Amino acid sequence: MSARIIDGKATAERLRGGLAARIATLGFHPGLRVVRVGDDPASGVYVRNKDRAAAAAGFDSATIHLPADIRESDLLMLVADLNIDPTVDGILVQLPLPPQIRPNMVIAAIDPAKDVDGFHPLNAGRLASGQPGLVPCTPKGVMHLLRDTHGGGATPLAGARAVVLGRSQIFGRPMLQLLLAADCTVTVVHSRSRDLAGECRRADILIAAVGRAGLVRGDWIAEGATVIDVGINRGADGKLVGDVAFAEALPRAGAITPVPGGVGPMTIACLLENTLEAALARRGVATG
Ligand code: NAP
Repeated sequence: MSARIIDGKATAERLRGGLAARIATLGFHPGLRVVRVGDDPASGVYVRNKDRAAAAAGFDSATIHLPADIRESDLLMLVADLNIDPTVDGILVQLPLPPQIRPNMVIAAIDPAKDVDGFHPLNAGRLASGQPGLVPCTPKGVMHLLRDTHGGGATPLAGARAVVLGRSQIFGRPMLQLLLAADCTVTVVHSRSRDLAGECRRADILIAAVGRAGLVRGDWIAEGATVIDVGINRGADGKLVGDVAFAEALPRAGAITPVPGGVGPMTIACLLENTLEAALARRGVATG
């Protein structure tokens, strides 16, 4: 048996199409501002892709590019201006930031109602306590893929054993909360966990977000499990590869995301979804 490939590109396209259709009915263009500091090349690719996708879906999107040596206080002033700008619905400060800037200070300075990355402590707290708020884009995108894959009742999410590899603030922790909210039984493993392979083998849903090429071997995967590969790594040949040894996983998994073309495209689509949600919430319009 060969696993079904979960097509994140197609799912992201559908999601963006739905957002565009909704925006066309609104009479305004939700405003997104991305702040990029310095010239990190990976951030440059992300920001360009985001600009293109946002414009195509009808957002008023712009990137503010600042020099790498900007002072933290100047960046905080810019964020304060964006917070009070009525044309701006969503603010994203692209990470990583240069060493003179404390990312937590910047994240905490963003108005939580415009925090489309979902990293502000208030939004993280809302997620952890089961209240509505803006949710980090990558784990939100994974939930879209899981709902598609586990929809229809054959293998419901409720009660499924989910294992998340990685416990970062931007992915592993919010992923844990979203899976719990979907009634999964969740285990989170990390660099200090014992018997990584054994934990993974018990998973109906295995989600890897570690940043180590090919860490998850084929025999770590239970027969028929859904495998979501969040990792983005450069292989020896320069190509992008995930955290899962894809060729080994194919004959064992029931469904699997490729890298690239799996989780990656969902992140930008969910950033746009968050921006629309923020725009509607700020105007007191119900989402849906
Ligand atoms: P991170 O902050 O570096 O966290 C990595 C996590 O993996 C940590 O919890 C770490 O454990 C754990 N870990 C590291 N080595 C391990 C090992 N050998 N065994 C078990 N656990 C180990 O990374 P991140 O920001 O969450 O990103 C993870 C990966 O996802 C990266 O490849 C990143 O590029 C990718 N990513 C992709 C997207 C997307 O849009 N597709 C978005 C975000 C991230 P400790 O906590 O114990 O250190």
